Amino acid sequence: MTDTYLNLVNSGVTQKIAKQLGLPQPAPLRRHRPGTPLVAGPVLVLGRGADADALAAVLSGPAGGDPGVAARDDAALHDAVLDGWDLDVHRHPVPDTRYGAVVLVLTGLTHPDQLAGPVLAAAGVLRGLARGGRVVTVSREATADDAPALAAVRQGVDGLLRSLAKELRGGATGNGVVLREGVPPTAPSALGALRFFLSARSAFVDGQLLTVASDAGSLPASWETPLDGRVAVVTGAARGIGRSIAETLARDGATVVAVDVPAAGEQLAAVANAVRGTALQLDVTAEDAGQRILAHALQRHGRLDAVVHNAGITRDKLLANMTPDRWESVLAVNIASQLRINEALLTSGDFTEEPRIVSLASTSGLAGNRGQTNYAASKGGVVGMVRATAPLLVPFGGTANAVAPGFIETEMTARIPAVTRQVARRLNSLQQGGLPVDVAEAVAFLASPAAGGVVGETLRVCGQNLVGR
Ligand code: NAD
Repeated sequence: MTDTYLNLVNSGVTQKIAKQLGLPQPAPLRRHRPGTPLVAGPVLVLGRGADADALAAVLSGPAGGDPGVAARDDAALHDAVLDGWDLDVHRHPVPDTRYGAVVLVLTGLTHPDQLAGPVLAAAGVLRGLARGGRVVTVSREATADDAPALAAVRQGVDGLLRSLAKELRGGATGNGVVLREGVPPTAPSALGALRFFLSARSAFVDGQLLTVASDAGSLPASWETPLDGRVAVVTGAARGIGRSIAETLARDGATVVAVDVPAAGEQLAAVANAVRGTALQLDVTAEDAGQRILAHALQRHGRLDAVVHNAGITRDKLLANMTPDRWESVLAVNIASQLRINEALLTSGDFTEEPRIVSLASTSGLAGNRGQTNYAASKGGVVGMVRATAPLLVPFGGTANAVAPGFIETEMTARIPAVTRQVARRLNSLQQGGLPVDVAEAVAFLASPAAGGVVGETLRVCGQNLVGR
């Protein structure tokens, strides 16, 4: 499961050869380690107006923040400023500065003509962006109710960001926070998403725009342990991505219930022990899976706050050769079980304190993949399910969202034939496969209190796969 090519092009003589031959040069990605700086250098906040000023104040924290802004009657901003992100923030490019991040605040634009100023100001510093640097746009959602010029500039940011992300090198990424009309840039989820995209937690998230629909949610007392006091269930936790999700949620402060099939009992127990959680041996396709998950969480931990539907299988075959067994088993594990478990939780009356549902989708479910009609139907199903489940949770501050991984280095992808695997790894803007922890970080963000305003979304963790939307 190691990417030998990535190691070779980043060391010694093979690095030189790869450069001369013009071969892909994937860069090692900066990943989160508790206690390390949020970004790799100073942050340039570009854009004019109150939104840019407010964000610059939050990012620079109490030391550099404008006390006038902090004193405003805006609880989220007040908390954020008190907490202090304490970054070195510039409002204009300073020559010869190696920026760790550029934040482009484009919320006030009303016509595409106005893009040139902030965008070209950003262009001037991109060459000097630090390795693992970040570009984050903050913009407003385009709707059919907008004046045509307004809709054009807002939708234009989408195309701009996705193209820019494809141009960045050295492990740098570009992502966007899209605010629905009326949502302030300092809403908890706007700040939560901005922080996630700036941080090393989003190492393999690239070219993505995440919509913040409301000012629901709250900022954590500590950004290092945002899941303190929360109890989370992770299905398929014995290995791979599920194991990493269990570890990451526990690192972020959650108590974890690790679920997997009895056949994986030994590995499951090891994961549960490692994260100081509990293990529940359960086939998620069981009729009473939801009831058993809830009963276990309540009996052992007194509450249930989050469910991560990670258990999943593939049974690939061209549709022309598909067997009923292959079709039905994939649909049963990957989507029917999730629907049934959610139904049980939502009708129980015990899943009502800002609950979180996070489901594993897949880029195959968005873009399609040869040989995976069954899998893609199930994963496309997940995207539709979270969109329709989210409104049911909003009344009690809950959310349902999905994470769609692209190529991730796991036992599932290790089974892909070697040449196909090599090609699949390079087919994204970061020119490498992601690690399970990259998916886990996105899940942890969506499970956190700060993501309360992100509802029904599917966030891709795919290094900006060249296929699909
Ligand atoms: P994996 O095969 O390594 O692990 C899946 C785990 O789920 C296993 O521990 C397995 O025992 C468990 N599981 C399977 N059926 C179960 C059932 N009926 N009840 C309970 N547990 C069950 O897979 P992975 O690569 O870690 O993938 C995890 C999730 O991410 C899956 O939903 C997968 O579809 C999705 N995903 C993975 C990739 C990738 O590149 N690896 C890409 C896109 C999406």
